Amino acid sequence: MAGRKITIAIDGYSSCGKSTLAKSLAISLDYTYVDTGAMYRAITLFCMRQNLVNNNGVDESRIIEKLNDISLAFIQDPETNTSPIFLNGENVESQIRKMDVSNQVSQISAIREVRKKMVQIQQKMGIAKGVVMEGRDIGTIVFPDAELKLFMTADMETRVKRRYKEMREKKIDVSMDEVRDNVNSRDYEDTHRQESPLIQADDAIVLDNTNLDLEQQLQIALELVEKKIEILG
Ligand code: C5P
Repeated sequence: MAGRKITIAIDGYSSCGKSTLAKSLAISLDYTYVDTGAMYRAITLFCMRQNLVNNNGVDESRIIEKLNDISLAFIQDPETNTSPIFLNGENVESQIRKMDVSNQVSQISAIREVRKKMVQIQQKMGIAKGVVMEGRDIGTIVFPDAELKLFMTADMETRVKRRYKEMREKKIDVSMDEVRDNVNSRDYEDTHRQESPLIQADDAIVLDNTNLDLEQQLQIALELVEKKIEILG
């Protein structure tokens, strides 16, 4: 699909396969893939290491003070053809996927100043178009003018089983109940926070992938991209 490059925004609930689809779509189109959840997770790891967050809450004013000490970068690894996230020069890709980070991330991502900093970085990353960015507020806040917006969903048990399988494959010791609790509580917190809650953009196309495999989802997404580019001329 040569020619005009567009911005593709993918939002949706936790663990419904946004990253998997976004990555495949970016490879097929030769676009840049950006996992914005990794950015919120990396900031959360930073805050955990500095004792600025725990199960009892967050030290919001100190987190805001420390924001300038945080630098994030996705650095391509040509061997694995992946772009792990680096926090202040350290590859933290595997650490940010662990349960302790998953359990704290929604508290950190609810902080207005944290979001402001992330959105600025994300908008810069997508300025040249040709980007597939996924998260919770991409079609509503980061790129409200994105040419194609997908809102992904799947039924809860399907999502829990997928996330559980993925974590076990990464050798993360977790139970199905822990995964279910985490997915449920992140969905609740992400949709109920005051600052940029997860909502479906008015012009987003809903993709329920409960009964779709990756190939089928990719096919649907590629057809939507093709149609969009045709309409734009
Ligand atoms: O996408 P992932 O599940 O890795 O995201 C982790 C968390 O980061 C979400 O549960 C949400 O709290 C936060 N997030 C966000 N806005 C985004 C992406 C992620 O608030 N654009």
